[in-house]
Amino acid sequence: MLAERITPMGLSKTIWTNPTEFLKHQQPENPVLFFAPSAVQAVARRFLAGFPGFVTYAVKSNPGEEMIENLLAAGVKGFDCASPFEIDLIRRLAPDAAIHYNNPVRSRTEIAHGVARQVKSWSVDSHSELAKLVELVPAEGCEISVRFKLPVAGAAYNFGAKFGATEDVAVELLKIVAAAGFIPSITFHPGTQCTDPNAWASYIREAAVIARRAGVKIARLNVGGGFPSHRAVGVAPQLDETFATIDRVAAEAFGADRPGLVCEPGRAMCGDAFTLAARVKAVRDGTHIFLNDGLYGSLFELGQIGIIDRISVLTPDGTLRKGAIHSRICFGPTCDSVDRLPGEVPLPDDLAEGDFVIFEGMGAYSTVTNSRFNGFGELALVTVLGQKL
Ligand SMILES: *Cc1c(COP(=O)(O)O)cnc(C)c1O
Repeated sequence: MLAERITPMGLSKTIWTNPTEFLKHQQPENPVLFFAPSAVQAVARRFLAGFPGFVTYAVKSNPGEEMIENLLAAGVKGFDCASPFEIDLIRRLAPDAAIHYNNPVRSRTEIAHGVARQVKSWSVDSHSELAKLVELVPAEGCEISVRFKLPVAGAAYNFGAKFGATEDVAVELLKIVAAAGFIPSITFHPGTQCTDPNAWASYIREAAVIARRAGVKIARLNVGGGFPSHRAVGVAPQLDETFATIDRVAAEAFGADRPGLVCEPGRAMCGDAFTLAARVKAVRDGTHIFLNDGLYGSLFELGQIGIIDRISVLTPDGTLRKGAIHSRICFGPTCDSVDRLPGEVPLPDDLAEGDFVIFEGMGAYSTVTNSRFNGFGELALVTVLGQKL
């Protein structure tokens, strides 16, 4: 199969069988992300079948229209949005979807935008922002979820550093929400890439304490995102165990007052949707590897939460390199010295200039944080039937 045209950040018109077929025929000079609709739909169905509540998708992790459309096709009916742009995107693609506006700090203009687009669920973590919501959002049929935080363990990245009320403040906020006539709920975000199913347990128990102290029976508990994607070869995500833990602890902690559950996964839902092919620009004096993608490009997040080691290397004619694996220093294409992949990257020792380095599980926080720094960042998106090389 031949692609007619690849538009920057757009989809190829033709669907290719797999990444290898595309790479050997097209010899792309720029990084390519291979999108497999089948992978998105499979993971979405896993959440819909396994999570004991309502599944929403955190749009920020990958707002590509091809992502959203495949999630809708798989049956996802709710979206967690953080901005007017994301709200408009979802309203355009899914006029009837539930939109949760879960960025707890919003300008008055942004709040008005959400109200005008029929947003019925909002989160909040402070008195000042709750006062704005009470003033500007009609209470009738609207949910406000109080977001609290705990000191985190088990997450790759601490979300509590920016958002989340302490227990005492959460109790006060929940009372105000209920008294103002909104549907009272609670939410938290345990961090991202939480590979330990128990990361959710202490949050759920704390949510029950907050509801009890406030004397408010909450309608729903949103257990956030943070579900892991498959980044390390030896660490497969334990989604089923995580769903079971959430279900069990919610029943134990709330008893007869058990609220409906909501989740808002980002990375777990979109991680496997894309595979990246970055090209080796140079093996400088036989040592350092220079790739055409890096920390200012689609590999941005590796600098935050560490390397993805699901890596294979193909020669320009599409043959898999089988050399012994050695760890090497890898740089991105820009002139900034921070543009280096963290630590050392496991690569076959016969790797050569012109090869393609394939990173699996690159759907989350990749296309959306790619920058044009130094004039790089021209990513192509190519649809494939399957990602197997
Ligand atoms: C970023 C974010 C998510 C998604 O996080 P993942 O780790 O990608 O699952 C969910 N909810 C909120 C409030 C977020 O900020």
